Amino acid sequence: MEKNIHPIFERMQSRADKERQLRQRGLAVWFTGLSGSGKSTIAVELERKLAKEGYLCRILDGDNIRHGINADLGFSEEARRENIRRIAEICKLFVDTGIVTLAAFVSPTRELRELARGIIGGGDFFEVHVATPIEECERRDVKGLYAKARRGEIPDFTGISAPFEEPESPSSRMDTTGRTAEACAEELFQQIKPIITYQ
Ligand code: ADP
Repeated sequence: MEKNIHPIFERMQSRADKERQLRQRGLAVWFTGLSGSGKSTIAVELERKLAKEGYLCRILDGDNIRHGINADLGFSEEARRENIRRIAEICKLFVDTGIVTLAAFVSPTRELRELARGIIGGGDFFEVHVATPIEECERRDVKGLYAKARRGEIPDFTGISAPFEEPESPSSRMDTTGRTAEACAEELFQQIKPIITYQ
């Protein structure tokens, strides 16, 4: 590097500085699971719990990403990959700011999740498989998408006409059937608490 080029990174506050200021550790909690499995609902409950306990948190989900920064992306294989790549890069920025970042996306393949893990970094990537069985997701059919997919109106719908590859060794796995979202969020909070606690 040239002598008189001073990289701006040296003058920026580091992640450690931010974490000291916030008195917490940054972490990406990456939810994966079928549509309707409970990813967003648990993320909202977990955010509420984290706020109550004094942790700063940020949820990334389809609504704030697909309608915003990724509004230009469709659903081809390439676009789905780019969708996850950008989400992971955004996640990394938040985690590097010391924020507990909750990402709720179907992310159906191991390849997509490995892409995200590679960008965020394995030590900051807490993978949660929301393993609600498809029968229960379809019974809930929160957005009416399963009915549409069954009618053939949604091509490549995960669980119906496109595969969901289960993570082999997620950091956490939970079936939400017969449980409250609050209980699921509490379980997760207890699991991540040692990681996000500043000491
Ligand atoms: P996803 O984000 O995975 O597509 P949503 O969170 O949008 O799923 O929808 C999950 C649905 O399941 C909601 O209607 C929610 O109220 C319901 N539900 C029932 N029990 C639970 C639970 N234990 N955890 C999360 N959601 C639950």
